[in-house]
Amino acid sequence: MRILVVEDHERFAGFIKTGLEKEGFTVDLTMTANEGDAAFAAVKYDAVVLDLGLPDADGLTLLKDWRNQGSSTPVLILTARDGVDDRVTGLNAGSDDYMLKPFAMEELVARLRALLRRPGGTLGTVIEVGNLSFDATAREVRINDISLAISRREMGVLEHLMRRAGRVVPKDVLEDKIYGFDEEVSSNSVEVHVSRLRKRLAASDADVAVHTIRGVGYLLSVEEDQD
Ligand code: CA
Repeated sequence: MRILVVEDHERFAGFIKTGLEKEGFTVDLTMTANEGDAAFAAVKYDAVVLDLGLPDADGLTLLKDWRNQGSSTPVLILTARDGVDDRVTGLNAGSDDYMLKPFAMEELVARLRALLRRPGGTLGTVIEVGNLSFDATAREVRINDISLAISRREMGVLEHLMRRAGRVVPKDVLEDKIYGFDEEVSSNSVEVHVSRLRKRLAASDADVAVHTIRGVGYLLSVEEDQD
């Protein structure tokens, strides 16, 4: 899950980023409306956390632009403005939810997950492929009901392959989903995660396999029993 956070208060922004990363989200942080808009145009985010009071423009203007462009990406507004009018304006401008500052991190995470679970959102509760199940809320992978120990990025790779099981997922899409803007990505890092993932799946009797589609990406499929 890749989330865009647009928030100009540096400490508060850092607190949100760290809190969301702890829950397994990949987070891009931008601190102005302009940067936020550029990031939104460049990456297909699963959801956006948007502050209204930004130094260069109002968050609502940004949101209206995105909705006018036809984007339906879930947007959760953060606001210190405590008037009913502001909330109504925010919802009318196309936000899916809003939170008043200050708030508890657990509540932000719960609200985001609720948005991602809505029809059209990218967070299904549990995805099953073969004998694998992935619980997107608990961030847990199970094989034949036994929990699999797996790194955060391997889980990110597996989650996206499972969501598109039977279809090819381009390598750069996987890269986009598991790394934020500020993270260094070496050219073979997706290969490294996939290779570790394959070993774990094989060692745990998974009946799925990750196939390399040369020059394009990867495909997860259920392997038929050979005997
Ligand atoms: Ca602000």
